[in-house]
Amino acid sequence: MKVVKFGGSSLASATQLEKVFNIVKEDESRKYVVVSAPGKRNPEDTKVTDALIKYFKEYTNGKDTSQSQEWIINRYRSITEELDLDEEIIEEISRDIKSLATLPKSDNTFLYDTFLAAGENNNAKLIAAYFVKNGLEAKYIHPKNAGIFVTSEPCNARILPSSYDKIEELSNHNEILVIPGFFGITKEDQVCTFSRGGSDITGSIIAAGVKADLYENFTDVDGIFAAHPGIIKQPHSIPELTYKEMRELAYAGFSVLHDEALVPAYRGKIPMVIKNTNNPKHPGTKIVLNHTDENVKVVGIAGDSGFVSINTTKYLMNREVGFGRKLLQILEDLNISWDHMPTGIDDLSVILRSKELTPIKEQEILKHLIQDLQVDYAEIEHDLSIIMIVGENMKNQIGVTATATKALSENNINIQMISQGSSEVSIMFVVNQEQEKQAIKALYNVFFN
Ligand code: ASP
Repeated sequence: MKVVKFGGSSLASATQLEKVFNIVKEDESRKYVVVSAPGKRNPEDTKVTDALIKYFKEYTNGKDTSQSQEWIINRYRSITEELDLDEEIIEEISRDIKSLATLPKSDNTFLYDTFLAAGENNNAKLIAAYFVKNGLEAKYIHPKNAGIFVTSEPCNARILPSSYDKIEELSNHNEILVIPGFFGITKEDQVCTFSRGGSDITGSIIAAGVKADLYENFTDVDGIFAAHPGIIKQPHSIPELTYKEMRELAYAGFSVLHDEALVPAYRGKIPMVIKNTNNPKHPGTKIVLNHTDENVKVVGIAGDSGFVSINTTKYLMNREVGFGRKLLQILEDLNISWDHMPTGIDDLSVILRSKELTPIKEQEILKHLIQDLQVDYAEIEHDLSIIMIVGENMKNQIGVTATATKALSENNINIQMISQGSSEVSIMFVVNQEQEKQAIKALYNVFFN
């Protein structure tokens, strides 16, 4: 039994919905269909979720909302008309969209979430009606009835662990259940969304809850590429990735899947596959617990910019008990989260994302390092990129770092720092932001070409 999730671009028009219908119809084990709101039909288009944000802002600022309402309703109408669905469904959607502008504005913590969730909720109703009209036994189900109960954190809901037992009860049904992604219900019976792109999370939660054999996540690419297609021309798509590898790649800028979507499926030991709605015959990328092929060393090369390094040097640092703790305490007191910490005997650097800092925070850090920790030298280095070579099987192989550093040196790229965690899932190089693309090209060529 499979849980299938379709993203916004797979549901943006009647033509896309026809592809979705064929995918669901051709495999009767596809019993749960989780859907996003209609996405963009072309690069200039607006996602329904973004149109709902605009609508919300107009409503709460007391502005005229009629144009936004109309735009959103027409988005659905163009789909229902092309699919020749009964007038009833668009009337229901229209009523729902309009009713948002009657909800109380004050003391309504979840008003924004309620607006946003309407995008997926109405789309799920539309898709269920379309499936039924075309002879599939299907039913729309609201997240409340599906058992998706979440914490009361607006725009950042987390699933409550007790939900899984309730979701498991869904298993006793014959028809295909069409479930809106992106939101759940709080204990106070309020609509609360996950963070943006969160329909992936719903799919993963349902897959874990019903103990699916597979979670299929349909998007508009042939799986996950071994490097960014904006940097490498036609990179190959990765046939198989482990959850750990996926986490590493996602951290360094691979954004095919929502970060948090991995957790429920991983904990539930559910394999996942990323597939293309526009090319469903392509096998896509499988995300598994353990590799089936031990010989694959490197699965992907990722890079991300916008990093900063706080560099410190102090003579005899290695003998000073508590130095590291005191340094991290400075960051904690300023509510700064950090990512990596490469060290030397008398050097310690902390690498973090530049969004964690402000000019004032930087001054504070330097002041504490010099006055309290009495370092000999401290600087904050900007415009750094991290490059990650990812592959769980690296731990059983010798020479991956040698191959990588040789390729970087041959391309005149200065490695500023190197770091590898004990699990050896990835090797990280810090380079100057300007050399990021060149570094990715050099590494892709040496490992994949
Ligand atoms: N529609 C929501 C968004 O655009 C959630 C999703 O598509 O996954 O963020």
